[in-house]
Amino acid sequence: MEKFSKRVQSLMPEGAYFVLEKAKRLETEGKKIIHLEIGQPDFPTFENISTAGIQAIQNGHTRYTPSAGSIDLRQAIAEDAGGRRNVNFTYNQVVVGPGAKPALFFPTLALIEPGDEVIYPDPGFPTYKAMIEVAGGTPVPVPLSEQLDFSIDINLLEEKISNNTRLIILNSPSNPTGGIISQKTLEYIAEKAIKHDIWVLSDEIYSRLVYEDAAPSIITLPGMEARTIICDGFSKTYSMTGWRLGYGIMPTALAERVSLLLTHSVGSTADFTQVAGIEAIQGDQIQVEKVVEMYRERRDVLVQGLNGIPGISCRNPKGAFYVFPNVSSFGRPSAEIAEFILEYAGVALLPGTSFGDFGEGYLRLCFANSIDNLKEAIEKISAAMDRL
Ligand code: PLP
Repeated sequence: MEKFSKRVQSLMPEGAYFVLEKAKRLETEGKKIIHLEIGQPDFPTFENISTAGIQAIQNGHTRYTPSAGSIDLRQAIAEDAGGRRNVNFTYNQVVVGPGAKPALFFPTLALIEPGDEVIYPDPGFPTYKAMIEVAGGTPVPVPLSEQLDFSIDINLLEEKISNNTRLIILNSPSNPTGGIISQKTLEYIAEKAIKHDIWVLSDEIYSRLVYEDAAPSIITLPGMEARTIICDGFSKTYSMTGWRLGYGIMPTALAERVSLLLTHSVGSTADFTQVAGIEAIQGDQIQVEKVVEMYRERRDVLVQGLNGIPGISCRNPKGAFYVFPNVSSFGRPSAEIAEFILEYAGVALLPGTSFGDFGEGYLRLCFANSIDNLKEAIEKISAAMDRL
């Protein structure tokens, strides 16, 4: 038996990839599958962005760039991300990476020592727990509560803060729940972070995909810019998941450390991808508004349809492109229900437990899919639940 380092022993696959593989296998056996498991836009990358990327390759943007990203892109991000949040950022606070994940992983590696505790949302994006463990920290899950529309319960959060807490991870709008953390809750968290000298890593990758009010950012609160890392990116907003482009915004001293981690791991992000990123930010934003409207319509169809199935209750997500219906009335583990729906109904979706123990009793469905497919999925899920 090979012996691997402790830091990789507890790594687990992401549930979405696991179910995708199984669904693909069923497809090769001739079964029709509706894919609601993977969290990525079904729209192609907007044409102006693709064209900019192609031209960038033709114009020779095929070489290394500075590890933290080209200054042009970092400047464009500082202006755009700052403008949206009403904060002044400078380009040397911005670190560009291949996707948003490096803006989660590397700041965590730069801040966390063995023995440090990191509070993170459960249910939450699986990378949070993985990166805390790789950094040698202790993951401390804080449950999200459906009664609070999946915001963080401040009393539960307070209980989790100890002398060893070094970092709190927030994700608003949230994957998998679509919940948004209110300004009032952020104010409370900021007060605790300052009082106990804790960093905050705020994953705001879904900040442009909101259906009611904008999601407030904790970085705007007094005293928070010096202890906040924003993680954001291009994958979800501009349908650019495969381009691999994201960024972190953080205090410059931390940005320098994170850039060095990039230097010694990925080197730099693809040059032409960065050029396309500038076009994404500076080009017409009307397409973002259009897709948000389409996601809203799809959300409404799915939420209404799921609530029409006896035993299922589903809240209206305020952001992102996921619904997180409660299926606890069936009295069966979520993983079993998800598997049954895939095999019986041919609808691939995820058990809430793919996002942590507190996801038990829920399923996650991604509504970045056509209305026709969503309607068909609802019918099929309804038939499956009758047979469960
Ligand atoms: N953060 C959250 C909450 C996500 O859902 C995702 C992707 O699913 C990411 C970060 C990573 O984004 P990227 O694909 O740009 O690395």
